[in-house]
Amino acid sequence: MHRIGLLGGMSWHSTEQYYRGINQAVAEEQGGHASAPMVLDSADFAEIRAHQIAEDWDAAGDALAAAARRLVAADVEALAVGTNLMHKVAPAVERAVDVPLVHIADAVAQAGHLRGAGTLGLLGTAPTMLDSFYRERLESHGLGVVVPDAETCRLLDRRIFSELTLGEFPETTRAEFLAAMEELQGRGADVVVLGCTEIGLLVPPETAPVPTLDSVDAHVAALARFCLHGELPATPAARHASR
Ligand code: GLU
Repeated sequence: MHRIGLLGGMSWHSTEQYYRGINQAVAEEQGGHASAPMVLDSADFAEIRAHQIAEDWDAAGDALAAAARRLVAADVEALAVGTNLMHKVAPAVERAVDVPLVHIADAVAQAGHLRGAGTLGLLGTAPTMLDSFYRERLESHGLGVVVPDAETCRLLDRRIFSELTLGEFPETTRAEFLAAMEELQGRGADVVVLGCTEIGLLVPPETAPVPTLDSVDAHVAALARFCLHGELPATPAARHASR
């Protein structure tokens, strides 16, 4: 199998899901005691969060690039950043190392296409929903993207960082996320992407009132495929080249 490197701890509540999910997928395919060759570099999220609040994306990129180099020194063959938001600094990670980064938005786009979706609703942190780094990556895979209005984006962002990434999942917040999902469906979303790795802990996809696609599940599936078969999800450049 191929050894993967996971930049985790952002937050650890979702990294736990990655570890379990990747190993389960490998065990399901190979049976017996098979489990995934994997190295985890788990960040102190308080440090990363301080960079986010200061909007010091260079410092955040430096921190993740350093983690990526540590993982490559431990012989991993591909890397993954186990958060949607921190893909804002994916270019810094990619510049730091010479192994592929399994981009979470490529994994989500692949899963969206498999589900036959044309338009995705996107829920996550405010930068994931409002900045271009994530939405445009999905769009470059030929998918439409709808996000909530700016005020709702800010509300959901506050709930993520004052509750979900601290491991708290209140019923009142769940109701707010369900309302946002229904609103996106009303605006044409075929599937709503849980584009923050803790949303699935608040709203397990099977309990959602609309079809959902958990970014953790999509990323885990892509990582398990790399582990087992050395396959990577198509990047936007590869998708365009194959046309
Ligand atoms: N895990 C979250 C995400 O997927 C947010 C935490 C973070 O990385 O800042 O976007």
